[in-house]
Amino acid sequence: MKALVAVKRVVDFNVKVRVKADGSGLDIGNVKMSMNPFDECAIEEAVRLKEVGKINEIVAVSLGEKKCEDVLRTALAMGADRAIHVETEEELDSRAVSKILQKIVEKEQPQIILLGKQAIDDDANQTAQRLAALLNAPQATFASKVEVNNDEVLVTREIDGGVETLALKLPAVISADLRLNEPRFVKLPNLMAAKKKTLEKQSIEDLNVDISGSLKMVSVAEPKARQAGVRVANVSELIEKLAAANAI
Ligand code: AMP
Repeated sequence: MKALVAVKRVVDFNVKVRVKADGSGLDIGNVKMSMNPFDECAIEEAVRLKEVGKINEIVAVSLGEKKCEDVLRTALAMGADRAIHVETEEELDSRAVSKILQKIVEKEQPQIILLGKQAIDDDANQTAQRLAALLNAPQATFASKVEVNNDEVLVTREIDGGVETLALKLPAVISADLRLNEPRFVKLPNLMAAKKKTLEKQSIEDLNVDISGSLKMVSVAEPKARQAGVRVANVSELIEKLAAANAI
């Protein structure tokens, strides 16, 4: 059984991004980039499924500029067997990403398709859902537990006020939540060994996908700065202030 895992290169979650002065986007020129944290959980889960013999091959896929090779090397160091890089300088929205991934899935024929539940840069939370629709495959989003049994996968997901478990026929699309697992730390020898693994290049032209945009980012703005709070001496003063601000 084969798993395909989509990994995106995003601004590291520790970095505080700045909006460009003209509001045309974010200034990410020299900031640290990493694998999207939800995608680390997706790779980790695939590796764990391989370790217990449920799957035998893991293919990591990333779409974007040349530097995406970094996150693919990390995925290989974590335990993926090979990687596919769809190299492009084009801005890709979730619609374009899902259409490209559809082509890769059709070519690779994986039984388990794992993605992160959302990319922390655009927070779109759409790609897994769109991909499942394009493939006409069952989907389970925000997975916090995955159990593979023959041609079926049981996925537990958190919902308002509890958890639900879904049974999906394979092939299926699953998106990983942070609660799914704790991704392993990548050790230097594994990173070195990962250099020997296959990293295949593909282009959007090879895949024959129309990624013409349906979406345009118009502007980006910083959130309004919050006003400083004030310390009140007692409850009556609090009530007075709230009443003065028409908050009660
Ligand atoms: P999004 O719908 O943009 O929030 O992304 C959800 C998930 O889709 C991510 O966690 C990744 O697994 C996958 N994904 C999105 N963009 C890319 C990309 N450029 N390359 C690889 N995977 C991606």
